[in-house]
Amino acid sequence: MAAEPQDDCLFCKIVEGHVPATIVRETETTVAFRDINPQAPTHVLVIPKAHYPDAAALAAAEPTLAADVLREAQAVADEDKLESYRIVFNTGAGAGQTVWHAHAHILGGRGMQWPPG
Ligand code: C5P
Repeated sequence: MAAEPQDDCLFCKIVEGHVPATIVRETETTVAFRDINPQAPTHVLVIPKAHYPDAAALAAAEPTLAADVLREAQAVADEDKLESYRIVFNTGAGAGQTVWHAHAHILGGRGMQWPPG
C-alpha cells in the first residue's frame, strides 16, 4: 500500500511539481533528478513517488518499489554512460541522512575511495 504524500516533505513536493528539480527520468513509481549539491560529475537522486522516510521503511513496506528504485539507478548509470558507479542510501542522521524521504544517490564519473567518509 502506497504511503501518502507528506505536507512537510521536500521530495514529496518535487514529486508533485511544487518544488523545482532537474528531472532526468520519471516512471509510474519513481522520479530521478540531479542533486543540487553534486558530489561527483554524475550525482542523481532516485526516489519512490510514495513517501517512506528511509530505504529500510521502503524495503519493508514495498519491496517491489525498492526494486524499481534500484532498476532506475541502473538506467541513470546507462544514460550517463557510467562504467562504474556507487549507489548510496544514507539511512539515519548518523549516516548523513538529511531528507526523510527514501532516496538513492547515484554517484559516478570520477574515481572513488573506500571506505567512504
Ligand atoms: O542522504 P541525504 O538525505 O543527505 O541526501 C539529501 C540530498 O538531497 C542532498 O545530497 C542534497 O544536496 C539533496 N537535495 C536536492 N534538492 C533539494 C534539497 C536537497 O537535491 N531541493
